[in-house]
Amino acid sequence: MTINISDDGQTTVKTDAVRLMLEKQLQERVDILVELSPRALPTVDPIAYQTAASHRRLVEQITAALNRLDAGTYGRCTGCGREIPAARLEVLPHAAACIECQSHADAA
Ligand SMILES: [Zn+2]
Repeated sequence: MTINISDDGQTTVKTDAVRLMLEKQLQERVDILVELSPRALPTVDPIAYQTAASHRRLVEQITAALNRLDAGTYGRCTGCGREIPAARLEVLPHAAACIECQSHADAA
């Protein structure tokens, strides 16, 4: 299955491939989290704690991307609603926003 994320019909995203990749990444992050969790406490192992926190954020972002795939809104910026360039999705399949909106969010 492919979805067309562009009005001009030029850009298609292979959602099955994206889903597989996202699910694989999600599983990897969850595995790491499970491994880290016994010592991922600020007082026990601050580095493991921070690593776990960043993995947890990624798990949330990947889960959200999978939800957008289900909802059919994958590939659209959650900020401005415009298409996220395919090149960006290739590098960052769970990207929720275009570079412009993301840079605003990062600056905030
Ligand atoms: Zn945007």
